[in-house]
Amino acid sequence: MSELNLIMLGPPGAGKGTQAERLVEDFELPYYATGDILRAAVRDGSELGREAKEHMDRGDLVPDELITKVIVERLDTPEAADGFVLDGFPRTRGQAQSLDEQIDRLGRRLTAALLIEVDDDEVVRRLSGRRVCAANGHLYHVDHDPPKSEGVCDEDGSALEQRDDDRPETVKHRLEVYHEQTQPLVEFYDERGMLRRFNGSRKPGEVHDHIKATLATLRLEEEL
Ligand code: AMP
Repeated sequence: MSELNLIMLGPPGAGKGTQAERLVEDFELPYYATGDILRAAVRDGSELGREAKEHMDRGDLVPDELITKVIVERLDTPEAADGFVLDGFPRTRGQAQSLDEQIDRLGRRLTAALLIEVDDDEVVRRLSGRRVCAANGHLYHVDHDPPKSEGVCDEDGSALEQRDDDRPETVKHRLEVYHEQTQPLVEFYDERGMLRRFNGSRKPGEVHDHIKATLATLRLEEEL
């Protein structure tokens, strides 16, 4: 089987994590979500976490050199040998170039950049209502996907929290940062013929079906 080296692209709240979770299950790939890695580093109080925290709390990106090293190292491991799903990376042109260089060095190539599109108003609605289980990271939405009892995770009964950077003012800033620094990557991957677009305002199951069909086509083309 050929490698599946995938990037999830799109604004915060587009559903990248939800879709990535499904792809990881479908294809048994390792999942590298830089936001999760950084939040874990903040919780652990590691040097990476201490350096990242102030940027994250403001809704700004952490410096490229801080995060690029984390991802580049992970791609050169046996667990990522058959493929990977990157979520939240790359987020700047500099990161995309570093990723290209590393992939080249490893003699591999990216399969596709999967862009999940939703408009800004929908992002604000989704993120301000988003709640996350403090223990297992499971996601809920106060209106669209509420837990059975308010404020408590269905799966393990832990308290649900709002991420500090999901508060409305920070969400607006994260969107500005996305448009300024990450959106140029849409063109970057489009020019390289790697971009595939998906309508993130559709139901998660529909988006997933569309992504799977697209990947199946890509693999067929590869075999021709
Ligand atoms: P996320 O969970 O992907 O929304 O990421 C949460 C926060 O982590 C972002 O707002 C950034 O501060 C930081 N972050 C995550 N990934 C990156 C990245 N690739 N480059 C810079 N900062 C990042």
